[in-house]
Amino acid sequence: MKNWYLKNKEKVKDFRKKWYLENKERVKKTSDEWYLKNKERKKEKRKQWCLKNKEYIRERDKAQPCICCGKELARDAVGGGYDCGHYRSVGSAPHLRFNEDNAHGQRKVCNRYGGGRAVDYRIGLIKRIGLARVESLEADNEPKKWDIEQLKEIKQYYNQKLKQLRK
Ligand SMILES: [Zn+2]
Repeated sequence: MKNWYLKNKEKVKDFRKKWYLENKERVKKTSDEWYLKNKERKKEKRKQWCLKNKEYIRERDKAQPCICCGKELARDAVGGGYDCGHYRSVGSAPHLRFNEDNAHGQRKVCNRYGGGRAVDYRIGLIKRIGLARVESLEADNEPKKWDIEQLKEIKQYYNQKLKQLRK
C-alpha cells in the first residue's frame, strides 16, 4: 500500500487538486452554511442557559409586587403574566446578566411597553435592596465574559437554587 502510494504520489496529488478545483464552490458553500448553522446553535444554547437564571428570578419574586409600580404580578396568567425585568438592560450591561440584584419580577406591561420604567424601577429597587446595593450596580462597569463551561455551571447552580425554592 505504501509502495503504491509512493509510486503514485504525484497522481494522487493531481487528483486531489483537480477535485478541489472542481468542487471549490460547493466546499465553500457547505462550510459557510455549517458555520452559520453552528453559530445559530451556539447562540440558542447560550440563550437556554440564561433562561434558567430568569426562571429563578421569577420564582424568587413570585410573592412580591412589581418592582416598578408596586402592583400585583399577574401570577396566574397564561404563559406567566410577569417577566424577569432588568434594571440595567442586558443589551447595554451584559456583564450584569447574572447579577441577582439587577433582575426582579416585573409586570409584562411595565417591562415591555413602559421602556422598563427606569425611574420607577430605581425607586422600587432602593426600597427592596437598599441604596448602597443600587449604587454599586450602577457603578459596576467591568466587562465579563463566560465560556461554555462556566455557563454550564451557572445553569446547574440555578437548577439547584430553583429546587430549593420549590421544596
Ligand atoms: Zn410595574
